Amino acid sequence: MSDGKLHALVTGGSRGIGRAICLALAAQGYDVMINYSGNVTAAQETAQACQELGVKAIPVQGNVADPQEAARLVETALEEFGSLEILVNNAGITRDGLLLRMKEEDWTAVLDTNLKGAFHCMKAAARPMMKQRMGRIVNISSVVGLRGNPGQANYAASKAGLIGMSKSVAKELASRGVTVNCVAPGFIDTDMTAVLPQAAREELLSQIPLGRLGAAQEVAAAVAFLAGPQAGYITGQVLCVDGGMAM
Ligand code: NAP
Repeated sequence: MSDGKLHALVTGGSRGIGRAICLALAAQGYDVMINYSGNVTAAQETAQACQELGVKAIPVQGNVADPQEAARLVETALEEFGSLEILVNNAGITRDGLLLRMKEEDWTAVLDTNLKGAFHCMKAAARPMMKQRMGRIVNISSVVGLRGNPGQANYAASKAGLIGMSKSVAKELASRGVTVNCVAPGFIDTDMTAVLPQAAREELLSQIPLGRLGAAQEVAAAVAFLAGPQAGYITGQVLCVDGGMAM
């Protein structure tokens, strides 16, 4: 039985943008299931910070690239919370390299996590959301999926794929009250971008009209909006949070 509250599953919620999303949703009073891949300490820290905001927050390990594990995440959320209203597909990885040097396993790992992972989770969450005639799915794409980026053919394909997939599923689920949108962050200050060489950082910074990196909280605010009550008439959209990079 659902407790009348709203409940969210955030994949890759242990660190970076995912952690900020968990906190933003918790601040709105939603219970959150915090999925992570291997970093249990970070996931527990996120859960504790959410609990301090007065909500139920449960860390759950699981590899979204695995269809069974992704389905188990949704099942666990339904068991623990009684219902699932919000799914944020945020888990993502990079395996950068120029096309001519990119190994097939780097292509596959990125597509399997970033694109197939969201497919598996949406597939598992769609039925209960359709049944309850209410659901909000937010998929974390990237400006790289809109503009491309040298060295990221695999990542750009996964993020562009998320946009096409989200628009298709938005059309499939709209009649059941389920919205599907993308947030496309630009260059955000997290572990993922901390590894970029100085020259690459400076080159990226020069392409940002607002002249600075974004904060994970700024992406999370957009996700919380699309997941929240004010966004009920918005579906199939891509909201760029990128300092103007993609305009
Ligand atoms: P991050 O700091 O590297 O965190 C990645 C998160 O994904 C972690 O929670 C990690 O879990 C989880 N994860 C990775 N592989 C997983 C898997 N197979 N199954 C489940 N969880 C998995 O990344 P971030 O910078 O916050 O990025 C979050 C999302 O935003 C990604 O989709 C990324 O592509 C996108 N994005 C980021 C930027 C940016 O500038 N940072 C820009 C555009 C888009 P563990 O902690 O257990 O490893």
